Amino acid sequence: MHPLCKTRTRIEKANLMSSPVFPDTTTGAVAHDRLRALGVASLLVPGDAGYPAAIAGFNLRVAHRPDLVVAASSAADIAHAVRVAGELDLSVTVLGLGHGIQRVVDGGILITTTGLASVTVDPGQRTARVGAGTQWQAVLDAATPHGLAPLCGSSPLVGVVGYLLGGGVGPVARSYGFAADHVRELEVVTGTGDIVRADPTTDPELFWALRGGKHGLGIVTEVVLDLVPLATVFAGGLFFPASQARAVLQTWAEWSATVSDSVTTSVAVLRLPPLPHLPEPLRGQTVVHVRVAIVTDDADAAERIVAPLRAVGPRLIDAVTELPYAQIAMVHQDPTEPMPIVEGGALLSDLDADAVDALLAAAGPQADVPLVMVELRRLGGALGREPRHPNAVPGRDAAYSVFVIGAPVPELFPVLPGIIRGVLAALTPWRSPRSLPNFLGSANVAADYRGAWDPETRARLDAVRAAVDPRGVFGFDPEGVN
Ligand SMILES: Cc1cc2nc3c(=O)[nH]c(=O)nc-3n(C[C@H](O)[C@H](O)[C@H](O)COP(=O)(O)OP(=O)(O)OC[C@H]3O[C@@H](n4cnc5c(N)ncnc54)[C@H](O)[C@@H]3O)c2cc1C
Repeated sequence: MHPLCKTRTRIEKANLMSSPVFPDTTTGAVAHDRLRALGVASLLVPGDAGYPAAIAGFNLRVAHRPDLVVAASSAADIAHAVRVAGELDLSVTVLGLGHGIQRVVDGGILITTTGLASVTVDPGQRTARVGAGTQWQAVLDAATPHGLAPLCGSSPLVGVVGYLLGGGVGPVARSYGFAADHVRELEVVTGTGDIVRADPTTDPELFWALRGGKHGLGIVTEVVLDLVPLATVFAGGLFFPASQARAVLQTWAEWSATVSDSVTTSVAVLRLPPLPHLPEPLRGQTVVHVRVAIVTDDADAAERIVAPLRAVGPRLIDAVTELPYAQIAMVHQDPTEPMPIVEGGALLSDLDADAVDALLAAAGPQADVPLVMVELRRLGGALGREPRHPNAVPGRDAAYSVFVIGAPVPELFPVLPGIIRGVLAALTPWRSPRSLPNFLGSANVAADYRGAWDPETRARLDAVRAAVDPRGVFGFDPEGVN
């Protein structure tokens, strides 16, 4: 573990969430008055008591400074805000739960969506109607009592809409595909302030683009998504000591290449801080965390599938067992407290023994790098198959994803992107040219963003963006973070 990680594990949130210099509020004040006259109730400008809390997301590294916050409580609020922004030549950015936004909003209007959060489950249709600003946890809470599962990601605290727009790779993804493949319809505010619906028959092109195109395609106010009939999984995590890293990763790489589509799995080298809430064997340790989720009713068969992993050696913690889907967060055990994140990701076409050794040399337990997580996820299975209504999700032919998160230490922020790029560069021979938008971060370079989609898909997405947002109100940056 890097020395700074040991000594600085707690982050001073106040320093990161407030800015000493607020932007000029003149334009924000004009927008404020116009929106107030239009009946938009919840408006915040710099200096208002609720302003810092409204703009704070999960990633504390990103400290926004908008001229005006529109805390939307309806699609109409958002439509008014977009129209007024267009009239005043202000940019518009949308904030969900703040897990993924990379661009620091400096000026303009920031629309927050948690006021639209809602979930209605239709058990007969096996669908959920979900408002923007909703966390996956709320959908889990509403769906799992009916034996139905939403295809959430590793952390149920992530926002539903941001996750879906970027594809969405969850703990049972190899069985069911991308979460975006299971979206039935979306309601969207366009760059001209129109409220439109996108489904396979109404605006099919926008429907195609929103599911995987991620940015600059409008502000989604509501989605209808399919739930899958899944009450339990055989799932959880195996924690191995750092001394076993090479054996675990090499075994996992071989094993994960052969497992059936019923098995979704990932592995991460974690450099854990000495926090009191962590179980004692993990506290302050570097460990290897293998995650498994098997869609089956046959516990004996599942035990046999996991056996080669257990055979590697003693585990610090072994918690792979039959799990109610309501507890799916136990598979990854992602952090739940907001933290500053510097991250970067890539897709791999292959993961052979040399690739594992290259990754271990760059970021394994022996490498002196300030990284909290280096994660490999096995893709393929249903992720590789186009859904009934094709969408813009890239990277379907990739075999693995790699995702790297730096230590949450502000003093290291200037150097972390270079260190993360170094880890990704070590995997160059195995890299796919494509990327998953949800796994691109501030350490990725413009070429990663540009190349996420193949040229044809990218051109098609740009055509939809031009139609949806002819004035460029959403400020989509084709070269970088959004
Ligand atoms: C701890 C953690 C675990 C994660 N696990 C996974 C995982 O397992 N699988 C996976 O695929 N991803 C995962 N992600 C990535 C996550 O899915 C994306 O970052 C997602 O965009 C987060 O959405 P949000 O609302 O929380 O974030 P925000 O930062 O609020 O939004 C991110 C972006 O989504 C878009 N967006 C959000 N709301 C709207 C809206 N209403 N209309 C239009 N655009 C909108 C915007 O472009 C915005 O910049 C994880 C991220 C974290 C931090």
